[in-house]
Amino acid sequence: MLRVFLRWSLLLPAALFVTACGRSPADHQQTLLVFGTLLDIKAYTDKPEQFNKAVQSLDETFQDMHREWHAWKGEGELVRLNRAFADGQAMSVSESLGDLLRQSQAYSQQSDGLFNPAIGRLIGLWGFHSDEPPGGPPPDPNAIQALLDASPSMDDIRFDGNLLSSANETVEIDLGAFAKGYALNLAIEKLKTFGIGHAIVNAGGDLCVSGRHGDRPWAIGIRHPLGEGVIASVDVSDGECVLTSGNYERYREYEGIRYAHILDPRTGYPVEHVASATVISPDGGLADAAATALSVAGPDSWHRIAHQMELNQVMLVNEKGRVYITPEMKARIVFQQSVDAVIISEP
Ligand code: ADP
Ligand code: MG
Repeated sequence: MLRVFLRWSLLLPAALFVTACGRSPADHQQTLLVFGTLLDIKAYTDKPEQFNKAVQSLDETFQDMHREWHAWKGEGELVRLNRAFADGQAMSVSESLGDLLRQSQAYSQQSDGLFNPAIGRLIGLWGFHSDEPPGGPPPDPNAIQALLDASPSMDDIRFDGNLLSSANETVEIDLGAFAKGYALNLAIEKLKTFGIGHAIVNAGGDLCVSGRHGDRPWAIGIRHPLGEGVIASVDVSDGECVLTSGNYERYREYEGIRYAHILDPRTGYPVEHVASATVISPDGGLADAAATALSVAGPDSWHRIAHQMELNQVMLVNEKGRVYITPEMKARIVFQQSVDAVIISEP
């Protein structure tokens, strides 16, 4: 979701309802527009002023991330790094970008390269480096093949402290599958530094939580990837994140065929047989990267990749609405609709 970038973020006054309350804890909610998506921040707290300050600070942090981690727009750090890679130059990066890329490299390795943020050129070739959904026919197969032959990979990146270089000039980093989950974790941590320890930070259904909602855990819904409404609800515990990669929201359409925005780095073509993959983990970045990797892995090999990434709370929905789920995930979610078939498998 980091992919639709607006250059600004703002507080939406209409969505803001800060209850004028005494000192008993209550719900407080604000909505920011960041990363081209609405970020809904809800807290259960008796410190509304602190909450407002925390949200202001989060807004600034997210604007910075948005600017610096954008893959293709502006002159942020990632755009400059991608240019350095293309020119065969080394560049020294900030602590935070270095950390983000080291983690990305590890997750790419653990997922056998199915999560591969080095395929920015391929993502651009398919037209997804654009704020508007792309149209027109799919790219020239020869151009796709040329990028496959060049095989850009996170393993091409060399880290000399925070001095980065790439052994492969076709490496172009796109953090669209990872940065949102990473940022959600940071948001929860930042709220804590303002004394807000019971919160839920939700970007279009991707979320992390802290604490509880009063005397209950935070309860959330997972959107049905093919239909209306919620496919399942789940109680989320302190420190957990729920990330879903959807292959249904952002796509290229041509002559009635939809080409979705998650690409299989092995073929260069969009993933077809998975509508969504949902992962629960304390690590939002890992969950986001994994949800993308599991969408690529598909019904045949998702268990292996989940196991390699040390995840056991996973649910996949295929393009026909069939659900594949781990026993650990099945044990905690409550389906809200009848589902086609539920296949329970150990990772
Ligand atoms: P969502 O946006 O629904 O949360 P993802 O987390 O899977 O979905 O992110 C998809 C974005 O990640 C794409 O728009 C693209 O920028 C990038 N991407 C596509 N395929 C891959 C892949 N195989 N590995 C890493 N990044 C990818
Ligand atoms: Mg993802």
